[in-house]
Amino acid sequence: LQGSIIGALQQLQHATIVDDKVVNECLNEITRALLQADVQFKLVRDMQTNIKNVLATQYGSAGHDKRNNIKKLVCNELCKILDSGKPSFTPKKEKPSVVMFVGLQGSGKTTTCTKYAYYHQKKGWKPALVCADTFRAGAFDQLKQNATKAKIPYYGSYMESDPVKIAVDGVERFKKENRDLIIVDTSGRHKQEAALFEEMRQISEATKPDLVIFVMDSSIGQAAFDQARAFKQSVAVGAVIITKMDGHAKGGGALSAVAATKSPVIFIGTGEHTDEFEEFNVKSFAERLTGIGNLSGFVKKVQEVVPIDQHTELLQKLLEGKLTLRNMYEIYQYNLEMGPTSQILSMLPGGAELMPKGEEKEQQRKIKRRMILMDSMTKQELDSTNPKLMNESRMMRIARGSGSQVKDVKEMLEEYKRMANMLANTKGLTKKGLKIPQNR
Ligand code: GDP
Ligand code: MG
Repeated sequence: LQGSIIGALQQLQHATIVDDKVVNECLNEITRALLQADVQFKLVRDMQTNIKNVLATQYGSAGHDKRNNIKKLVCNELCKILDSGKPSFTPKKEKPSVVMFVGLQGSGKTTTCTKYAYYHQKKGWKPALVCADTFRAGAFDQLKQNATKAKIPYYGSYMESDPVKIAVDGVERFKKENRDLIIVDTSGRHKQEAALFEEMRQISEATKPDLVIFVMDSSIGQAAFDQARAFKQSVAVGAVIITKMDGHAKGGGALSAVAATKSPVIFIGTGEHTDEFEEFNVKSFAERLTGIGNLSGFVKKVQEVVPIDQHTELLQKLLEGKLTLRNMYEIYQYNLEMGPTSQILSMLPGGAELMPKGEEKEQQRKIKRRMILMDSMTKQELDSTNPKLMNESRMMRIARGSGSQVKDVKEMLEEYKRMANMLANTKGLTKKGLKIPQNR
C-alpha cells in the first residue's frame, strides 16, 4: 500500500505540468493501491469523490501548489477514515474497569492482553488478567506464562469449562483485590461461527465490560471489514488494536476496521514481545501511507547548511531506508544547529511525534539528553542496524556512563526504532526518483 500511494504521489511530484489528466491518473493509482490493500470499495470511492470535489472548487484560484495540495488532501481523507470521531473509553485509576478482548483465534488477543496490561502497569495502573478461553488447549498456560513474566496477577482454571463462569469469577475476585484494570481474554475460533459470537455476547452480558477491544491481525486483508462488523454486531466494540504491524502488512485493514466498528484504533502491535506495543497516532499513520512528512524538504534543508561532502552519506542512508543510531545523532545535531523553527525533525517520517508544536524548548532539551546518552555508546553500537545488539547489560553501561537511567536508554532506543521502521517503509522513494546530488 505504502509503496503505491507514495509512488503515485511521487509521479505527481515529477510531472512537469499538473493537469487534469495527471491528477486523475494519480488519484486512480491511489484508488488501486487502497483497493489492493483491502480497504473497502465504498470508502475508497468516497475518498476519491471528496478529493475531486475539493480540487474542483480550487481550480482557477491562483497561487495554489496543486502537488502539495493533493498530497495534503489524500492525507486528510485517510485521517478522516481513521478518525472514528469519538474517543475511546480510557480506564481510570483506583476505580475498577473491566476490559474485554475479542477477535479470531490467532489474531493476537492473548499476547495483546498482556501488552495492554503491561503498558498500563508501567503507567501506574494495577492490572490483572482473566483467561476466559476454554476452547483452545493450553490457552490458560499461555496467559499464565505471559502474565508471570510481566509480573501481572492472573486468574483461570483447568477444571471449569464454562468461560462465562470463569470470566465472572475472575472479575469478581480482582475487584475484591482492588485491581483497577481487569482484562478478560476470550477464545476465538478459526472461523466466524455463531457459537463464538454467542459466547462473546454472554461473557459481555455477565461481566459488563467498560470497554470491548477488537483485536485484528493486520495481514487478514480482504476480510477485515466483515470480520470487524461481525464482532461489532454481537458485542459493543469500542476500540480496535491492530497486531503484527511489524510484518509485511499493508495496513489497509485498519481503515476498514475503523469504518466497520466506528471505533478508533488505540494501539498497534509491532512484535511478539510484551513491550512491542505502540500508541496509535492517526496523523503519523496517514503520513506513513502518503509518503510521510517531507523527505525532499529535509534533504534540501540539510544541503543548505551542511557542506556537501559531509551529508551525502547520511542522506544516502535515509533514502535507502537504513538508519543507524549515528545517523540519528547527526540528525539531532542538525536540529540543534538549525534551531527548532527549522522544523527539520518533523520533516522526517515519525518526526512530527518527536517535535510537537509548542513544545520546542522541551524537545531541544530532550534531544540534548539523548545525545549525551549516545556519547556513551560504542562505535559498534552507533553503527549497528541490528536491534538485538542492545541488550540489558549494554543499556546499563550506557545509563551509568551518561548519568541516566536504563529507562531513558530504552526510551531513546524505542524512538530510534520507530523512526528507523518508518524510514524502512519509504524505500520506494529511491526507486521513484527522489535523488540526491552526487557532486563530490
Ligand atoms: P490469540 O489466539 O488471539 O490469543 O493470539 P495469540 O496471542 O496466541 O497470538 C498468535 C501468534 O501471533 C503468537 O505466535 C504471537 O506471538 C503472535 N503475535 C501476536 N501479536 C504480534 C505482533 O504484534 N507481532 C508479531 N510479529 N507477532 C505477534
Ligand atoms: Mg488466545
